[in-house]
Amino acid sequence: MIRPCQRSGECCRGRGHTPVTETDLLRMAAHLGLGPEDVRVRFLNRDPDGFSLKCRNPVLTDAECVFLGEEEATAGSGRKRPACTLYEARPEACRTWPFWERLASDQEHYEQSRRTCGMLRDADHAAFKAEFLRRRR
Ligand code: SF4
Repeated sequence: MIRPCQRSGECCRGRGHTPVTETDLLRMAAHLGLGPEDVRVRFLNRDPDGFSLKCRNPVLTDAECVFLGEEEATAGSGRKRPACTLYEARPEACRTWPFWERLASDQEHYEQSRRTCGMLRDADHAAFKAEFLRRRR
């Protein structure tokens, strides 16, 4: 069973590679009020196959996406929880996580992601693949 998102922010941590397409870049630029080149320089890494989001502390184990911030869990509680500061304009890869082709086709990669993503905790790879295919229909 795939559980609802627990909003742990774990998918925004680590030195993972969150790809950014040209469409994502234009959406981000409009949202941030910056030119596409400024967004590239400030927030993206150039990879062999395109661009990806930069991380804070990229060489440390506590790396996290540059857009990961915090919000109050419930009004007036003072309790904080992780929140995306780019939410409305976040890349397509963030919108579709964890239903990525790579997780469906690569069981080892799936098991790695399952250790930190609360949505996947109760779903073995076969169950995930079935849900992945159902959503693609
Ligand atoms: S853009 Fe937002 S949702 Fe995507 S990895 Fe960064 S903080 Fe997480």
